[in-house]
This record gives sequence, structure tokens and C-alpha cells, in this order.
Amino acid sequence: MNSKEFERRRRQLMSMVGEGGIVIIPTAPVRTRSRDVEYNYRQDSDFYYLTGFPEPQAVAVLVPGRPNGEYLLFCREKNPERELWDGLRAGQGGAVSDYGADDAFPIDDIDDILPGIMESCSRVYYTMGMYADFDKRMAEWVNTLRSKLSRGVHSPQEFVALDHLLHDMRLYKSRGEISAMRKSAKVSVAAHKRAMQVTRPGMFEYEVEAEFRHEFRRNNAWVSYSPIVGGGKNACILHYVENNAELQDGDLLLIDAGCELDYYASDITRTFPVSGRFSPEQRAIYEIVLQAQDAAIEKTVVGNHWNDPHDAAVKTITKGLRKLGLIEGTLPRLIKDGAYQQYYMHRTGHWIGMDVHDVGDYKVGDEWRVLENGMVTTVEPGIYLDNSRKIPKAFRNIGVRIEDDVAITSKGPDVLSKGLARDPDDIEALMHSR
Ligand code: CA
Repeated sequence: MNSKEFERRRRQLMSMVGEGGIVIIPTAPVRTRSRDVEYNYRQDSDFYYLTGFPEPQAVAVLVPGRPNGEYLLFCREKNPERELWDGLRAGQGGAVSDYGADDAFPIDDIDDILPGIMESCSRVYYTMGMYADFDKRMAEWVNTLRSKLSRGVHSPQEFVALDHLLHDMRLYKSRGEISAMRKSAKVSVAAHKRAMQVTRPGMFEYEVEAEFRHEFRRNNAWVSYSPIVGGGKNACILHYVENNAELQDGDLLLIDAGCELDYYASDITRTFPVSGRFSPEQRAIYEIVLQAQDAAIEKTVVGNHWNDPHDAAVKTITKGLRKLGLIEGTLPRLIKDGAYQQYYMHRTGHWIGMDVHDVGDYKVGDEWRVLENGMVTTVEPGIYLDNSRKIPKAFRNIGVRIEDDVAITSKGPDVLSKGLARDPDDIEALMHSR
């Protein structure tokens, strides 16, 4: 993302906050994996969205209309010895020259400097409750000011949750963001293709997972969530991440995996036969899910509301299950009673962006949100038939989900993850081209 875009975002947020407001936003903490080993650092999405600054231990401050600089960055100081061990730091000079800050200060000085800046503001915008340690520090800064009230020092009167403004901004993706998401999806598509081509009976689920991690890393991407690689009955466990079972001839393999590239996530699911050939029952279920996804994508258009794609998927799935005799009754009755829920128990999509389950409200008041240009959602219907006895034997242990990432545009649905086989014949052809 180029630096102009970060600047544009700060301007937009500052114009919404207005004079008298101050935005204070911290980085994500460094987290320990085990003993003295840390997880790979991932910047907080809100912080990165506004700054493009990748380092930990920083706080960004936006003060609309402040004469001595509206965008301040508190960050780590240059330190040749630490940098030798942990990598380069921008320092205060880099914060100004490379990241567009109007002024920058050492993070260790924040307690001395920030309360003085807050003093002139009446409203503080920050993401309350996100990080307990930061909430505590915020209280300390405010208390510092309150303790000086008798000396004529002011303290902010109002605390505003930043989420409503910032997360609504993040929900509408710019052209640059859509393009970043398309690149991210492209890497995930390539990985799913690889998986289809290498899978054979006798392999283990983790071996297929390794194809994803390899394809992601060779493109400078990471997993955006733990990949779900579930063969046979494991495909019916929605958040299965053990990925340690042997793949059996005759089973389906469900893979829900996507990468994060340049801070933008992709999220794709495909289901295919381990052997390279669908059984008639597997194909029958697969076709229903495919039709449901088509019906849902068709409804993912400007002016529809958030639940329209889900309603379309539910209708198609209910019809299909009824036709196969897996549920019984009249169609309107079955839909009204939610009969499909025993086999389709999740929603048809979620917002996606910098986070795989991205920010943004799904309802405005009591109403479903209306879909608008620039929003991006997954479309991911599924049917899960486990090994319970109420299900005819040939239909047991069939879990199918098909998921793609769809941008809502004024020209209709734009499938960012297109180019990956979805049709069962195309999947079989791809698997046999290996
Ligand atoms: Ca997914």
C-alpha cells in the first residue's frame, strides 16, 4: 500500500473526529509462544491501517487542527546494539521521513508528553477494551491530568469508542485495497491448485497443509488463519485444525485455507475427492452446495441486504436435501422450521479484509446492513453429513463447503478468488492432470 493511502486514511478519520478530538492508537503487543520464544509479530490492523508502521512498541496520535503537527508517532529509539539482535528500527527520524509523521518521540517519553497533548482536547477516541494494558495506561494519563485540575489543567470530558468510525472506514475497501486482496487471493488459489494436484490416498492431512505453507511463503505471504485440512468425517468438524489423519481412498477432503499478503487476507475453501473421483452421493451433495454458492453470489450485489445471500443459499440447500430425501416436508415449512440447520449450521459469509473475519457491523440498528460498493465478503455455503445413523450410509461422512471472496461492486459481484476449479468435472480434470 503506498504512503499516500495511509495519509488519506488519517485525513478522513481526522475530518470525522474534528477539532477538539484526539485519536490514540497503540500497536499490538509482542506475544510469547513458549518460554523465551515469541510469535512472529503481526501489527494491530487498526494501527497499521492508519500508519503503515510495522514495528511493535509504538503509539500513534492524531490531533485534528493541532498547529504543531496533527500526526504524532511515539516509537522505539534507534539502538545499534538492540538492532544488531532484533532488526532495524525506524527511530524518530524514520517515523517522520519514511512514515509521514509530523513529529515523533521516543516511546519511553510518552508518559511525560502525551498527557500534555491530551490536555487541550475534550474528546478521546480509542479502541477501548482491545488491550487491557493500554486501557490501564490510558486511565493513568487521564488521572495525571485530573490530579492537576486544581492548577487549572483541563482533562478530556468524553471518551469515544474509535471502532465505530474506524471500522466503518475499513469496511469500505479502496481500489488499492481491492487490488491487494486480489493478489492475496491469487496466492491462495495457486496453493489450492497444488493441493488438488498432489493429494493421493495414503497421504496425511498435514502433508497437504505443507503445500499451502510452502506456496504462501514462496510468495512472501503467511497463513491468515490455521488451515483446516479435513478428510472424511473430519470435514464435518467445522474448525478442525489437527490435520493429522491419513487420507482414505473414497473420502472427500475439505480444505479451508488462505493467506495474508501485505496485510490483506484471503479465505478459500474447496472440497474434492481424495481418489480424484466423486462418488455419486458425494457429487449429489457437492452439486447442491455449488448451486447454493452460485445463488448466494448472485445476491451479493449493491442494494441487497447482508442476509440476502444467506437466504438464497438456505433455500437452495433445503430444496436439494429434500430432493435427496435427507429432510422431509414441504419446502416453505422446512425453511421456516430451519430443518437445514442440522446439516448447514453456519452463516453464508463474513466480511474479509485486513482481518480474515474483518471489522464492520452486519446490522444497522435492527436492520441487516445494505450491501454497498467496496465491501468484501466471503460466500461459503456448506453441507455436513456426519456418521449419525439417521443419515443413509452412502451419504455419511460427507462434508462439503465451497468458499470464495467476493467484492461488491456497482458492476456486480467481483469474485476475487476466481480461477480455481469449482465445478466437479473441472476438479476431477485438474486432479487427473497431475
Ligand atoms: Ca474460511
